[in-house]
Amino acid sequence: MKYALVTGGSRGLGRAVCIRLAEQGYPVLINFKSNSDAAAETKRLIEEAGGQAELLPFDVSVKEEVEVAVDRWQDAHKDDYIAVLVNNAGIRRDNLMVFMQDDDWNSVLNTNLNSFFYLTRRLLKNMMTRRWGRIVNLASLSGIKGLPGQTNYSASKAALIGATKALAQEVASRKITVNAVAPGFITTDMTKGLPEDELKKMIPVGRFGHPEEVAAAVAFLVSEEASYITGEVISVNGGLYT
Ligand code: NAP
Repeated sequence: MKYALVTGGSRGLGRAVCIRLAEQGYPVLINFKSNSDAAAETKRLIEEAGGQAELLPFDVSVKEEVEVAVDRWQDAHKDDYIAVLVNNAGIRRDNLMVFMQDDDWNSVLNTNLNSFFYLTRRLLKNMMTRRWGRIVNLASLSGIKGLPGQTNYSASKAALIGATKALAQEVASRKITVNAVAPGFITTDMTKGLPEDELKKMIPVGRFGHPEEVAAAVAFLVSEEASYITGEVISVNGGLYT
């Protein structure tokens, strides 16, 4: 059986993606770091709609945790493989660079970028052997445009876009596509506390996006219909370009 793994599936965009992929027929592995109540709620929503889901907690920024969790899951699911990987877990620790602490820089790079390397490398082996896979990375407008106060976050997301394009070319012949989705401002816990009324004046559509609007783009990239799209970055930002 083909499974989908969504990192950071407990809340926000990740939850919406889990729900969409379950509707597409995938049994979904809901990864999260610590918020088990929110993850259980994602699972409940999927099951209520007739889908299948399992919780798979681990810290995506810690290589050993990633490997142990995936190995354990694979041992318990000998005939199954994770065919769809959505690298969604992410954090921001904003500050002007002149005030930025080492930990702000390292934690953002570890969570948003190194996690992509640890998890994707591990899951690619099976996708390559089975000759089918879908990898979607959650980038950001910040990684395309650069946003002041976010040198760490912009760097992590820009690097993710570069890695998406490079990896897409490495694995295309194995029917594995690798794409990125770059949201603008979407209503989740991550954007709570931002001056929404001010920010939405800059957005041509005139509002923040909904998680489901990002999940729709991810779901399309995962679908069979998107087989000829790889190494691409789809912006979901209400027209908020540079
Ligand atoms: P969110 O509401 O803050 O949720 C973050 C999710 O990531 C949670 O499920 C959290 O798990 C998980 N997570 C954080 N650190 C983790 C770790 N070390 N290991 C495993 N899971 C971890 O964020 P969001 O707004 O949905 O954002 C999702 C992705 O979209 C991120 O990559 C973000 O950078 C990107 N993005 C968001 C926006 C936006 O406007 N919201 C815009 C552009 C890009 P717990 O519940 O256990 O904490």
